[in-house]
Amino acid sequence: MAQVLDGKAIASTLKKELTERVDALKKRGILPGLAVVMVGSDEASAVYLSRKKKTGEGVGLRVETHLLPGDSSTQQVLELIQRLNADLKIHGILVEQPLPKGLNKDAIIDSIDPRKDVDGSSLANLGNLFLGRPGFVPCTPQSVMTILERYNIPLAGKHAVLVGRSTVVGKPLSMLLLAQNATVSICHSKTRDLGAMTRQADILVAAVGVPRMITADMVSEGTIVVDVGINVVDGKTVGDVDYEPVSGKAAAITPVPGGVGAVTTMIVLQHVVESAERL
Ligand code: NAP
Repeated sequence: MAQVLDGKAIASTLKKELTERVDALKKRGILPGLAVVMVGSDEASAVYLSRKKKTGEGVGLRVETHLLPGDSSTQQVLELIQRLNADLKIHGILVEQPLPKGLNKDAIIDSIDPRKDVDGSSLANLGNLFLGRPGFVPCTPQSVMTILERYNIPLAGKHAVLVGRSTVVGKPLSMLLLAQNATVSICHSKTRDLGAMTRQADILVAAVGVPRMITADMVSEGTIVVDVGINVVDGKTVGDVDYEPVSGKAAAITPVPGGVGAVTTMIVLQHVVESAERL
């Protein structure tokens, strides 16, 4: 059976480390602040937002939420971001997505000061990642890298096969793996014979959004499997990997829940702390 790459355990270590760093900042008179912007509101987003606030406050951050009405204009959102960019008490800015239709999402995200763009999703930070310059990296890909690193999984010269090429996960992750000297293949919905690709993987990352689509016949013995997928099936959260059968072949695997997602939450907070240390 595969070794379980325990995201929850890593998240709890990260929480401890972050709490210590926040304490050190507080001793210097700095209280790291995160601003979360939400435009329009539904029940699910509100629950999500309050969870984020609770987790942030759990490591000692100050989290302020800015709720704008659903019919706000792009200009109104931009004005709020400008205020937050200039606010010395704010070290990180998150804009909840999806934004209501009609808003210029790109203009809004790109208006965040790159030094406060803790989601790493602005043009500036994605450009930095592509060019190998310092900056904030999108949180989910960094979560995958953190798991591989904390379990001392070697990457240099290994073949990493990614299934999924989104801007949030697949593309930025490919850059991070490449920077660690992995050989990277990126698959997507038009890839022919996906199984022939995934069976070549030393490290296989599934970020698709299709429940249990990576089946055991698509995985070779000894592969490291990272499941980014979060899907709800019959009220149960499952990944993109058919967990039980694949565990029988993989050398190591991340569970869902309790894998990548658990670490991602902490990475956002880690970025806020880094920003406060820097600013
Ligand atoms: P996305 O934007 O919908 O992208 C999905 C990718 O999968 C696309 O590149 C798509 O190919 C590819 N794809 C779809 N069907 C495929 C198939 N049958 N064969 C091969 N490739 C296929 O999704 P995302 O935002 O990257 O999210 C992916 C999953 O990760 C979702 O389950 C999401 O909930 C989860 N997620 C988890 C976290 C976390 O922290 N754990 C964070 C973000 C997302 P095309 O490009 O050709 O369409």
